[in-house]
Amino acid sequence: MAGGSTIVLALEGQLRLDDQPAFHEAVALAQRQGGGQLVVLASRPVDQRLRGPHQRRLEAQALASLRARLAVEAIPLLHFPQQSRQEALTAMRPLLRPAAVLCCQESRLFSDWPLAAANFPRVFSDFRRRLERSPEPPLPPPDLSGLGGAGQHLPAAWLQPSPAGAAGASLGPPPDAHPCDPRSAFPFSGDEPSALARLHHYFFNSDGLHNYKASRNGLVGVEFSSKFSPFLGIGSLSVRRIWQELLRYQALQGNTTDEGSEWMKQELLWREFFIWCEQCHGAAFHAPGGIQGRPAQGRLGQGNADWERFRRWTLADCGHPLIDAQLRELLATGYLSNRGRQWVASHFVNELRLPWTWGARFFEWMLIDAHPALNSGNWAYLAGVGSDPRSFGGSPRRFDLERQLRQYDPQETHRKLWT
Ligand SMILES: Cc1cc2nc3c(=O)[nH]c(=O)nc-3n(C[C@H](O)[C@H](O)[C@H](O)COP(=O)(O)OP(=O)(O)OC[C@H]3O[C@@H](n4cnc5c(N)ncnc54)[C@H](O)[C@@H]3O)c2cc1C
Repeated sequence: MAGGSTIVLALEGQLRLDDQPAFHEAVALAQRQGGGQLVVLASRPVDQRLRGPHQRRLEAQALASLRARLAVEAIPLLHFPQQSRQEALTAMRPLLRPAAVLCCQESRLFSDWPLAAANFPRVFSDFRRRLERSPEPPLPPPDLSGLGGAGQHLPAAWLQPSPAGAAGASLGPPPDAHPCDPRSAFPFSGDEPSALARLHHYFFNSDGLHNYKASRNGLVGVEFSSKFSPFLGIGSLSVRRIWQELLRYQALQGNTTDEGSEWMKQELLWREFFIWCEQCHGAAFHAPGGIQGRPAQGRLGQGNADWERFRRWTLADCGHPLIDAQLRELLATGYLSNRGRQWVASHFVNELRLPWTWGARFFEWMLIDAHPALNSGNWAYLAGVGSDPRSFGGSPRRFDLERQLRQYDPQETHRKLWT
């Protein structure tokens, strides 16, 4: 039986060592109790819905990398993908009674309400204008030396990294079960070193950030936007690390106004806004009437014809060539540009006249960067029930797809690539 001085650290979906306050707490606790052994637990985070194939592939890559890095210090990583933290701890109890259980938190710019919860703004511009605090700085990776050794008290099956391991303690599908499509705009591995390398490349080793304001509406390729979202979605990158590197980039520019980096700050604040907005509104945030509490546009989506249109849409066969090309990219890679997502969602609500919650749920399964708050927040915005100020008391915004195509893809590069 392992116990006594064992500290369990539950990752709660945050698959990295950088900027993890709970790891620092574990080190401090071990020091206070005169020593200790760390066990890292990767269970299903509270409230996490089912993850689809693309996101699971990244998750497996991030876990394999983290497991190897912890193994250098002889710290075991146990993976209970189907079980919550509490269920995993209960399953482990006959053999492991920890002195303490510490939990990682999702990476956010602010650890507490950036604006009073009671008066939280419904629109982004109010959120940004009223922010008075600066984002909090990241912590460095922890020094875990001397915290290893707990693995020798645990059954070998719990320590197996492969699906051949114990029931409930496997890594799920191996990383290569869903190989990356060569056309993917996200050709990276999901692990933390890859995330930090991408961050460094985009900010300092390329013109990516400098050009971001002009390029971010691109549809094809790797460099038109940062591609941080898949790393953020599985917690292999910290948003505070991104913000700090942004400030470092701006300092290196001599603090002259750099449109690219200012725009990037804006997008990271959008992420923050939706995360806190979801926390503020709870279930209403994901409900058909959204935070406006109004009936969703369009019909209720109960008839057979609606189901059929939806079924065909999930197969990238909705009949609109531009949208079908976007959906084909989504199915094959899990990634879709922000502009592409906007087109697809707007078409789903306004032309197919299907309930936005159906589209959002399908995206959540298929996206390589699926994040419930960001996904529902954006879908509800486009469905006219969320935080789009133009939609309050009015209709959802409607994209003129032919015009959009002329503006953003006049050569039809995207459609040709995904036909
Ligand atoms: C219908 C719809 C569904 C979406 N679902 C998700 C989702 O499940 N997960 C997700 O991470 N993003 C989602 N987004 C937001 C956005 O499309 C992606 O964050 C972005 O395309 C990811 O690529 P990137 O990291 O290269 O973005 P960049 O343009 O480089 O932006 C940098 C970061 O800013 C944040 N960001 C950018 N745009 C938005 C936005 N509109 N809302 C909130 N944060 C933003 C993201 O964290 C992103 O990684 C959705 C957008 C729409 C329209």
